Amino acid sequence: MTTGRLYIISAPSGAGKTSLVKQLFAELDGLTVSVSHTTRAMRSGERHGTDYFFVSVDEFKSMIENQAFLEHAQVFDNFYGTAQQTVDDNLASGLDVILEIDWQGAQQVRRMVPASQSIFILPPSIEVLRERLQNRGQDDAEVIARRMRDAVTEMSHYPEFDYLIVNDDFELALSQLKSIIVANRLRQDVQQQMLAGLLQDLLN
Ligand code: 5GP
Repeated sequence: MTTGRLYIISAPSGAGKTSLVKQLFAELDGLTVSVSHTTRAMRSGERHGTDYFFVSVDEFKSMIENQAFLEHAQVFDNFYGTAQQTVDDNLASGLDVILEIDWQGAQQVRRMVPASQSIFILPPSIEVLRERLQNRGQDDAEVIARRMRDAVTEMSHYPEFDYLIVNDDFELALSQLKSIIVANRLRQDVQQQMLAGLLQDLLN
């Protein structure tokens, strides 16, 4: 059995990353989405262990000290991190692992796991992004302006990523995301192991 591949998916908030990843998981076998640890408060509808592992700042810091994270970063006002052990176990069992993380985490994972592939999701226009950020709740202009600034900071890191996808038409963006993963599964090194028996029969 081959080990899985690690995928980093980043996007500014409002680009539709979470919906795309959710649908990707529903439609493609052989992959898992890593559940991060965070110190931010749980939002309504979220569940511990499903959306995030919600931990205190002290717990988070002790995980850093114990080198339990593959990567971790402060995003906005909270800490977020990816537990190393779960990722390792899933990759070892042959699953592809998706990390939904920010650009800072992406930089760390690229350094630690050079074979990882990174994908950046873009909104189709600045107007659409603004609309999506405005429609998120009854936030005042200042909060929306901050979200826009944060989104632009996140997007400025697009050149660091292997793939860019524009999420205008959801179905198209989803099929593009799928095709990246499927194409990676067809790579020579992976297929040589997957098809070892067939290749031996064909050549002998
Ligand atoms: P939210 O709090 O809205 O769920 O996520 C805020 C930001 O934190 C998003 O950009 C998301 O990608 C990022 N994020 C979520 N989990 C992690 C993680 O484990 N590590 C890093 N570096 N960023 C994360």
